Formats: sequence, structure tokens, C-alpha cells
Amino acid sequence: MAAKCAIDIALIDAAAKRAKQPVYDFLGLGFRDQHHVTSFTIGIDTPEVIRRKVLAAAQYPILKMKVGVPEDKANLRALRDVAPSKVVRVDANEGWATKEQALAMIEWLATDGRIQFVEQPMPASVLAKDWVWLKQRSPLPIFADESYHLAEDAERVAGCFHGVNVKLVKAGGITPAVEALRAARKLGLQTMLGCMIETSLLTSAAAHLAELCDYLDLDGNLLIKNNPYAGVTADKGILSFIHAPERYGLRASAEGNSPVGTPRLLVSG
Ligand SMILES: [Mg+2]
Repeated sequence: MAAKCAIDIALIDAAAKRAKQPVYDFLGLGFRDQHHVTSFTIGIDTPEVIRRKVLAAAQYPILKMKVGVPEDKANLRALRDVAPSKVVRVDANEGWATKEQALAMIEWLATDGRIQFVEQPMPASVLAKDWVWLKQRSPLPIFADESYHLAEDAERVAGCFHGVNVKLVKAGGITPAVEALRAARKLGLQTMLGCMIETSLLTSAAAHLAELCDYLDLDGNLLIKNNPYAGVTADKGILSFIHAPERYGLRASAEGNSPVGTPRLLVSG
């Protein structure tokens, strides 16, 4: 899928450049600069390291916290010690084995009051009837990540989740990602665009689809220190192409890769 993704994005970049348009206009989506906000991910760690990571992420208004380990409660307490009122999204990465365990954890998370949704509480292999059971009872919206890849999955997940997390690499490029986002919206699902650990080349490609999304988690380029590309920036989490090195296509390139406002946060682990 990564290879398909690379080819799809290269072709769209070339076609948009030939049309002298940014990809978001070439696709007819548009892009409201300084409107879309990405979350910033805090990985699983010890409470002390989480406290430090959350402090270091002070400029980002929305955090995404990874859970699914026995220390979850201590880790959320550590986050709240230093960010008492920040909006937090939670990603369990298939971490809870049963629907009962998932419900108990989501009910606990809901008592926080500032948690927006929970991504992939159980393994993708869990039967649809257990997902339906959880969706009916969950006090927080649940989002499919590992359970949702392509538009053809939309019917299946619509009864099981409140929303989906689409990623370019998971879908195989911009074309299938647009289809996956549109199919989800058509069925009333909320949409989110996520990422892997990526350079600014791929987070920029994803940013062109922001108008199809309710939530964005495009922080892969912020979590690495060996990023050879410049493109979309995320100062204070707010996506902008104002300092992008190119006007057309992906608006990303390896030339002049230190635009003003690009955070260079070094994250361990
Ligand atoms: Mg996820």
C-alpha cells in the first residue's frame, strides 16, 4: 500500500502542477488556511516521561494520547497534572481485548469530561455484533482505524463505529483516501485523517484533504528530527501552506526545508 500510495501521490502532484493548481484545488476541495488544527500525539510511556512530553507539547491545543496498557490511569493523571483542560483524543490501538473491558475503560475516560473520542478500542478481528454492542453503550464516540481501510469497508463499519480514521498509506494514496472519506460521510460517519511516522511530504499530501475531515491527526512530521522536506506547517497545531516552498501540486519539496514556523520538536522513543 505504501508503494501504491507513492505512485498515486506522484501522479496527482504532476497533474496538479500541469494544471497550475494546488492539489486541494485540483481535486475541487479547497483549503481554508489557518483553519484546520491537528492533534499532537503523546505515546505510551512512564507517567514522568508523559508529563515531560505534554509540557514540551504546550503549543499544541489538542493532544492524542495512546492507551491500552496497565498504566493507562496513571498516564492520564500525569497528562492532566500538566494539561488540566486540554482537549484529548484517545487511541487504544486495539488494546482492550473484550467489549466489557473496552466499555469499562471508555466509561472511565468519559469521566474526564474533555476527551473527544476513542480510536480502535478493540482488535479489528472482533465480531461485528460485539462492536454494535459497544457502540450502543459507549459514552464517547468510537472511531475505526485498524478496522477501516477503504471505501468498500464503509457499510460494514457504519453500524459498529461513530467515525473513521483514514490514512494515505493505509488506503494506498490520495485517490482511495478521498473515496474512503466520502463513503464514510455518506453513511453519516464522522471523518478523521491520520498518519504514520511520516515526513512533511506525506503530511502535506494529506493536508490537501482537510476539507473532507471533521478531525485531523497529521503530526507525523512533528515527531521526527530527520525530515528532509518542507511543506505544510503546523505552528500551534494550525495547518498552513503560507510558507510552503511551492505554489502548485503538493506544495512540498526538499528545497529550502526550514520555513519560518516549522516546529522542530525532538521526541524520544
Ligand atoms: Mg490509530
